[in-house]
Amino acid sequence: MSDSAMNKASSTDQGRRDFLGSGAKLAAGVTLAPGVLLYGVAQARPADQPATDKVRWGMLIDTNKCAKGCDACVTGCQQENGWGPDSGNETKSNPYQTAQWIRKVDLRNKQTGSVHSLPMLCQHCEHPPCVDVCPTGASMKRADGIVLVDKHICIGCRYCMMACPYKARSFINEPIKNQRMHAPRGMGTVESCTLCVHKLDAGEGTTACAEACNTEGHKAILVGDLKDPRSEISRKIATVATTQVRADLNLNTGVRYRGI
Ligand code: SF4
Ligand code: SF4
Repeated sequence: MSDSAMNKASSTDQGRRDFLGSGAKLAAGVTLAPGVLLYGVAQARPADQPATDKVRWGMLIDTNKCAKGCDACVTGCQQENGWGPDSGNETKSNPYQTAQWIRKVDLRNKQTGSVHSLPMLCQHCEHPPCVDVCPTGASMKRADGIVLVDKHICIGCRYCMMACPYKARSFINEPIKNQRMHAPRGMGTVESCTLCVHKLDAGEGTTACAEACNTEGHKAILVGDLKDPRSEISRKIATVATTQVRADLNLNTGVRYRGI
């Protein structure tokens, strides 16, 4: 599906092992003083506990704040997760053969002519086609909604790449340089955005792209727990019109957009 086609249809389960199987936990409430609770504070997941379905991590991207020509989120993700120009995987002309955990796209409304600039990434679907088609179980969804690839058992068939409606996955053709310990990669496997699972599991409550966007002053990306009605992201979604890209597919994406 082309990026422009996405706009048309818009409407409204272990480092490697530790990395993939770990779970984040969001505190229901943290006591600051007797009678004073601070809700929605992210906490690190104890290493001996699995991910929990009491949390669903998600992202809200406000395209009204996203600046055309700005790719700070892309650069931030590359630096955090070790993909991009310094990784050795950037020499192919085919975008499917070039890492693209997150990319900037311009969407044009055919009726109004308006153009929105926005970051496109794995939408962390509740019902992920990539998981449905994977023959080995390498594509998986954690209890907290984060969709990942287990590099140990991915055989590089690329079925998931064909199944993903968002062109969110890429295949590693070449030896990888400058890997990050928290984001292992491997030639012959498929990869996509991890929602900075290492940061969420550490209790940081945000992602590198959101941090980079904030540093640029745009503050277009909000990360949080979609299941907690008191979280900032839930309160925002409850009060403004938001959209799931290709909502017609009923995948119930964890990434939502405002302004498209
Ligand atoms: Fe899978 Fe694509 Fe959905 Fe991400 S966006 S969960 S890679 S189908
Ligand atoms: Fe599963 Fe890897 Fe094949 Fe994707 S490329 S479907 S993750 S085995």
